Amino acid sequence: MSEVLGLDGIEKTYNAGKPNEIKVLRGAGLTVAAGEVVALVAPSGSGKSTLLHIAGLLDTPTAGTVRLLGEDMGSLGDGRRTEARRAQVGFVYQFHHLLPEFTALENIVLPQLANAVERGAAEARAMDLLASVGLDNRASHRPAELSGGEQQRVAFCRALANGPALLLADEPTGNLDPGTSDTVFQALMALVRETGLAALIATHNLDLAARMDRTVRLDNGLLV
Ligand code: ADP
Ligand code: MG
Repeated sequence: MSEVLGLDGIEKTYNAGKPNEIKVLRGAGLTVAAGEVVALVAPSGSGKSTLLHIAGLLDTPTAGTVRLLGEDMGSLGDGRRTEARRAQVGFVYQFHHLLPEFTALENIVLPQLANAVERGAAEARAMDLLASVGLDNRASHRPAELSGGEQQRVAFCRALANGPALLLADEPTGNLDPGTSDTVFQALMALVRETGLAALIATHNLDLAARMDRTVRLDNGLLV
């Protein structure tokens, strides 16, 4: 199995040394391989978002190692870590965070232009991604003209625009009704299977978790 994400002994303490100090992660370890979809399940407040931010290089752990594609991210300077994040990590959140003034297509094109992809190629890739989630007929719609489930499917396409190795999703269906959750989840699985990327998905929905390859639970700061 080829490891995309490796977490070893991850600790995270907020407000260290202050009266409101809180130790959220206490030595969490996990690996996610290419093509694997892992569910991250735990009650609210137990550190799922913290763990995803650390895995996605948006935050640094208090202790422990984050490996991305075999490279120790702690050994990189901030600049190279940011580069690694932009090139290799896609994020999806509970709310889509699409740019409201741009069309679905443009929301998927823009990150590619920022990555020096030529416009024609970027548009072609955006259309392919939209087609793979059944939204090629919504390319010219703005986010406000899309349903919640459609917005979230566009957000997945945007996260994958630059071909990351790792997809991190933080309660991506948390804001959707059960039927829509299902559609969005199926679209996500299709994208993952098609691209062979590694995915770590925080969810409250145990039915969805059961349909992923594996479930890990955050329990008292450890992954079990
Ligand atoms: P989850 O995503 O599972 O709901 P979080 O990772 O958001 O959990 O939060 C875990 C704990 O860490 C919570 O008690 C939260 O209040 C605390 N926390 C999260 N972010 C911060 C921060 N930036 N500063 C201080 N405490 C934080
Ligand atoms: Mg959270």
